[in-house]
Amino acid sequence: MGKGTTGPLPGQRGLPGVAEDTPPLEEGAEHFTNCRPFRVVSADLRYPWGGFREGSRFRCYFCGHSFKPGDQARWQADFGKENCCDFLVCAECDGPDVVARWHRHYVDGKRRFWWMG
Ligand SMILES: [Zn+2]
Repeated sequence: MGKGTTGPLPGQRGLPGVAEDTPPLEEGAEHFTNCRPFRVVSADLRYPWGGFREGSRFRCYFCGHSFKPGDQARWQADFGKENCCDFLVCAECDGPDVVARWHRHYVDGKRRFWWMG
């Protein structure tokens, strides 16, 4: 749990479909495509996140945190709406505006780095 809070974690508040009295996090990433936060278990570290071997990209796309068992993580799909890639986010970086923040990073990156085009 984060920072001694007893209610929903910061990353859970305001997410679609997440009530204020959020039930305990699901253990493990088995159902990660539902875009809900989950509690990382050791098996999650071995999945080919982003198509790379042995969880080398099982990290928060904002702060770079490498997820460890016990962490809260969430995968967010773009669903083609913003035409940018899906991402993983940690509890500290998550929030109701996370998709908008990601889109700003993505647009800025495409402007700065030719290889993102
Ligand atoms: Zn983060």
